[in-house]
Amino acid sequence: MIPLTGLITDLRTRNAKRVAVQLPEGLKRGTAMLAKALRDEGFDVTICGDACWGACDLALDALADADVLVHIGHTPVTPEENVIYIPFRQDINPDILASALPALAPYSRIGIVTTIQHAHQTEDMRRWLAEHGITAVIGKGSSRTPQPGQILGCTYAAAKSADADAYLFVGTGVFHAIGVSLATGKPTFALDPYGDGGVQEVSADRLLRKRFVQIEKAKTAETFGILLSGKSGQCRKELARRLAALTDKASIILIREVSEMQLRNLGFDAYVNTACPRLALDDQSRFPMPVLSPAEFEIVLGLRSWDDYAIDEIA
Ligand code: SF4
Repeated sequence: MIPLTGLITDLRTRNAKRVAVQLPEGLKRGTAMLAKALRDEGFDVTICGDACWGACDLALDALADADVLVHIGHTPVTPEENVIYIPFRQDINPDILASALPALAPYSRIGIVTTIQHAHQTEDMRRWLAEHGITAVIGKGSSRTPQPGQILGCTYAAAKSADADAYLFVGTGVFHAIGVSLATGKPTFALDPYGDGGVQEVSADRLLRKRFVQIEKAKTAETFGILLSGKSGQCRKELARRLAALTDKASIILIREVSEMQLRNLGFDAYVNTACPRLALDDQSRFPMPVLSPAEFEIVLGLRSWDDYAIDEIA
């Protein structure tokens, strides 16, 4: 549910007349209803129709013809003027944590981490675990993850600051939990509030084996394309420049949407991703050539050892 009353008050306070609205892919079907509700309140509405996967991907060009961009679904990852963020929230019943109790019992301090949908309930989860004999802690957020306990696929600051000896990730999928495991080196359990599989301990071993294969493949590459994103919250120019300076085989490529077709057409033997860190780790199967993280590129060039493998995060 989008809190329409608060949004309209905010828009009127800003004296906005023309409003652009942007919803992420999972919520896009709510766009027509939101646009109609805002038109009924007298606003001139433009819908941003391009794909959007996070607050790192703001449709800032829409502000050329709108007073305000309303971004639904996420908290800010970069400071922007004239953008209203409305995070998407989904309540869960803390009783779902019951299935995690046996797995968490051997540890003295459990760090609770979750995505933005459930970040408003981390304190409820901590209290529920305390009532059931488990000491849980919630790490501070960061500028990209302002809610305590909140993590993103590009930022695990809330896990690393939690001073825990194991972690419980509450959310869908295991990617974030594997990220926590890699970022902290601690045992990490994943609990999907909508799944029926209960809690599972995640392991980064399979992912690391796959990454090792890509690193070995990339060692024969004659050309490396350093992918530099044009998206507002993914653009890491300094990192791209630093990586490109490591070898004369590398060129910087400014790119917005990274697709198999684009990478094939560009024709590089391997790519180094400075855009969304999930691209190299989660989406490699889409690409026929290695797409490396910055740390993996350093391993390929012999500047970092495999033992010093680190997950890519946007600080
Ligand atoms: S950079 Fe990737 S992981 Fe980070 S917010 Fe954007 S889409 Fe999510």
